[in-house]
Amino acid sequence: MTASILDGKAISERLRAQYRGQVAELAARGKRPGLAVVLVGENPASQVYVRNKVAACEAAGLYSDNIVLPADTPQAQVVARIQALNADPRVHGILVQLPLPPHIDEAAVLASISAAKDVDGFHIDNVGALAQGNPRFVPCTPKGVMVLLQEAGISLRGQEAVVLGRSNIVGKPMARLLLAADATVTVCHSRTRDLAFHTRRADILVAAIGRPNMVTADMVKPGAVVIDVGINRLPNGKLCGDVDFASVREVASWLTPVPGGVGPMTIAMLLANTLEAASA
Ligand code: NDP
Repeated sequence: MTASILDGKAISERLRAQYRGQVAELAARGKRPGLAVVLVGENPASQVYVRNKVAACEAAGLYSDNIVLPADTPQAQVVARIQALNADPRVHGILVQLPLPPHIDEAAVLASISAAKDVDGFHIDNVGALAQGNPRFVPCTPKGVMVLLQEAGISLRGQEAVVLGRSNIVGKPMARLLLAADATVTVCHSRTRDLAFHTRRADILVAAIGRPNMVTADMVKPGAVVIDVGINRLPNGKLCGDVDFASVREVASWLTPVPGGVGPMTIAMLLANTLEAASA
């Protein structure tokens, strides 16, 4: 079997065109949706992510406020900037790019974002709402994965779903969304014994571990749907996922590429969440 490719780039472009229309409709009613992106420090990967997010906002016609603070900014100053954004009527969504420099308490900064503007879905109120099965803002990457699965027409009810990774950003919210869609969910992590035992049972396998090409064909059930969230840079500068694309493509029924799979969906979902915040 050769897997069909789940083309996140094409799907996200279609969604973004749709969002441009929604932005225009809101603007006609006198409301321009706005997103503020806060970057602390000069992490090169974060700079690229922020640039892409700001560019996507501007292309969609959103008001965008790009705040870059020096790496040694005291936590209190970061929080003060966020509080000003909480009160700014032009801003409907606030995103703090992670990771933050080590002297800053990430949880405290995320908690300072108004839950109503928390378009990344990392505020404890939004995490709790998702955990209770009554979500408001859903984290963009797992939300994008759910849209990809929907686009491929994959029914999740009763399916064995295995999530590799248990981060707050990807793995945990991913597992909650799959559970809410009636899949039977297993979450694996670095202490899991015999990872392949679990992955081979998966009808739906989501890899979010940050280990280049770790999931190989022998770990995948024939016909499984494989979603590769990982973004890893190889020594030769090329990007690759957590899934060994060439070998797994011969076993899976659906597979996302890296780049061009989950990444573009993450950005599209950020726009979706910001529009939702502006429409509230
Ligand atoms: P984290 O480093 O926060 O979490 C990684 C998770 O993988 C942890 O739960 C860790 O386990 C687990 N893990 C690590 N090594 C192994 C292993 N050998 N076997 C099993 N589990 C393992 O990463 P993120 O969740 O933030 O990101 C994961 C990947 O997704 C990265 O490559 C990141 O770049 C990418 N990413 C992509 C996005 C996109 O838009 N496409 C957005 C966000 C992230 P433990 O908890 O035990 O340490």
